[in-house]
Amino acid sequence: MVADVLKALGVSAEEVSRGDLIVRSPIDGVEIGRVKSDSPAGEVDLKVALSVIAFHEWREVPAPRRGELVRLFGEELRANKDALGRLVSLEAGKILQEGLGEVQEMIDICDFAVGLSRQLYGLTIASERPGHRMMETWHPLGPVGVISAFNFPVAVWAWNAALALVCGDSVIWKPSEKTPLTAMATQRLFERAAAKFGDAPKGLSQVIQGGREIGEQLAANPLVPLISATGSTRMGKALAPVVAARLGRSLLELGGNNAMIVAPSADLKLAERAITFAAVGTAGQRCTSLRRLFVHESVREKLVARLKTVYGAIKIGNPLEAGTLVGPLIDKAAFDGMQSALAQAKAQGGTVTGGARALDGQFPNAYYVQPAIVEMPRQTDVVKHETFAPILYVLSYHDFDEALRLQNGVAQGLSSCIFTRDMQEAERFVAAAGSDCGIANVNIGPSGAEIGGAFGGEKETGGGRESGSDSWKAYMRRQTATVNYSNALPLAQGIKFDTE
Ligand code: NAD
Repeated sequence: MVADVLKALGVSAEEVSRGDLIVRSPIDGVEIGRVKSDSPAGEVDLKVALSVIAFHEWREVPAPRRGELVRLFGEELRANKDALGRLVSLEAGKILQEGLGEVQEMIDICDFAVGLSRQLYGLTIASERPGHRMMETWHPLGPVGVISAFNFPVAVWAWNAALALVCGDSVIWKPSEKTPLTAMATQRLFERAAAKFGDAPKGLSQVIQGGREIGEQLAANPLVPLISATGSTRMGKALAPVVAARLGRSLLELGGNNAMIVAPSADLKLAERAITFAAVGTAGQRCTSLRRLFVHESVREKLVARLKTVYGAIKIGNPLEAGTLVGPLIDKAAFDGMQSALAQAKAQGGTVTGGARALDGQFPNAYYVQPAIVEMPRQTDVVKHETFAPILYVLSYHDFDEALRLQNGVAQGLSSCIFTRDMQEAERFVAAAGSDCGIANVNIGPSGAEIGGAFGGEKETGGGRESGSDSWKAYMRRQTATVNYSNALPLAQGIKFDTE
């Protein structure tokens, strides 16, 4: 099955038959390929050098023509959505619907980027000097290094690459060492698009495979002006100083610890559906997964009882089978992390429902779990920490200010939401003194963002913004250019500096 899917995507069985990176499907723990890591010593720098050459050519191609390449890539994705979505399921363990959704997100960002390729606008600014024109121009930046996490193995790259390519940059991608196959397949689809395009420079988009040392090597290379890195806060804290030491730019998309406030006036039916999708979807392995639920004391009992019923009926199983809502965790380390967090929660006064390993008879080498609901007396240490698994901590609150304080009272600042029909609460939630997160939703769960808005978070989430709105500006350099079309040389600030 994996071989067929890879073949359809242009990757031969031979290519994934040897190497040091052993890829196991989280579905059953069975080996599905081997991929060779690039060597940090030589190959990474060699690929960066090629990327610089590609950039020098690509930056002079008119942006709308660059958009044509991204359009063709989007066409490849459309034609191969099923195969790539399936490969995402096989390699990352997402249910097929989410695997397909991830590819759809890639298609959407390509469409966005194609339009953007005719809208990389600058400003014309009034000059204080007569006979002068001042303008702000956005120029291509250079090779962009993209480091991605296992849980969105292809979409995150596409958010970066589609924009970087229309902005005139070349791209070097270091995918997660847990998901090298989807990266290979995506690169192959890109190469098909490039062949149709005709004259895209060699090395415009490249993949470097391997673990953190490969990422470190890329981050340290002064020829890469921007490193866009998605992953844990731990990774961001290690990577940011390396990029900063050479005064490079980093765009960080790190861990979240997302919350929902359920107010007394909330539509509980809507809230219940949003909670379930956000807390158990992708087996709790989204950066925007719902982890903390603050329920008003007047509706807590009712809502928690309903959630326990819904959780009890959720179908856990093979993510490729229709009807499955929760697939496996990525690996044993993720399972161990979940069990350790549950033990800590109990020690900190929590009452745990669910959380046990599931289907171990059928899949002894894979890690399926029952999603857990953990009722906590307070927002203790374990609640403040992102555990990348389906654990939903539930706390009660008495008044809105307390709920907001609790929600903002963690180090992460990615996504947040409130379910309320009270207009004042809704407005306060999205106002300056409301949610401190990059994403704040009203009557919508915290996960599943659209590509049209800027995506990212504050505080330990890293501050980066990707995808829609004006996120493209991160991939370009801003130039202020002033042209004097007069016969005099007036100085700014009216300074007199007569030399005659
Ligand atoms: P991870 O931090 O273990 O790895 C992410 C990537 O960083 C991998 O490619 C890894 O090889 C690389 N890496 C690790 N250390 C590095 C270093 N010192 N220098 C350079 N590269 C390094 O994360 P993961 O387990 O793959 O993914 C889960 C995490 O990612 C969660 O914390 C999740 O919240 C976060 N995430 C965030 C977003 C977002 O947009 N904010 C999106 C997806 C995932």
